[in-house]
Amino acid sequence: MIEIAPGVFVRRHTELDLTLGLITGSGDSLVVDAGLDPVFARAARPSRIVLTHNHFDHVLATEAFLPCEVWAHEDCVVDGRVLDERAKYYDDPFEGTLVAPTHTFRESVTLDVGGRRVDLHHFGPAHTSHDVVVHVPDAGVVFAGDLVEEGAEPQAGPDATPSNWRAVLDRVLALGPRVVVPGHGNPVDARFVREMAIPAAT
Ligand SMILES: [Zn+2]
Repeated sequence: MIEIAPGVFVRRHTELDLTLGLITGSGDSLVVDAGLDPVFARAARPSRIVLTHNHFDHVLATEAFLPCEVWAHEDCVVDGRVLDERAKYYDDPFEGTLVAPTHTFRESVTLDVGGRRVDLHHFGPAHTSHDVVVHVPDAGVVFAGDLVEEGAEPQAGPDATPSNWRAVLDRVLALGPRVVVPGHGNPVDARFVREMAIPAAT
């Protein structure tokens, strides 16, 4: 766990170079993305988890965090297609239960995490139809999910909208972040996001 701002942590994983987040307030915490394994859940006992999008590497371990609220965009569907996607990467069967979001929003919602303000935003389709950006205003930190990748090119699969990606990143930059945490790779600054190449349509 790396503390990138007071009470704001990232957890880096060698598996898929995944990056998860933990935002703490007074006696409360919120996790950004569940990841693939239950280890993080045992360390963090959040009251809420936010799923940035429904790709398997971001949602599979949600069950391990329960009981907690599971937040996502209203178009975030967690169903058997998540496991179909996982099967392209892993041969062993998935042991566990998929967890659907319990709390959803359309454009923005503000949460109180132990007295700390955390905003969830959806700025339109890009990496998926339902990408969620998590903003911690007092820390100048934005968790961008797979809108941003460091160490590898961002991924545009069949569910991506590359033509809108730059516009979404402009909305992220308009938040004035000091640190942007990608879904994969190390935290970056605003300049990295400004200069990031947008993946071509597939
Ligand atoms: Zn993704």
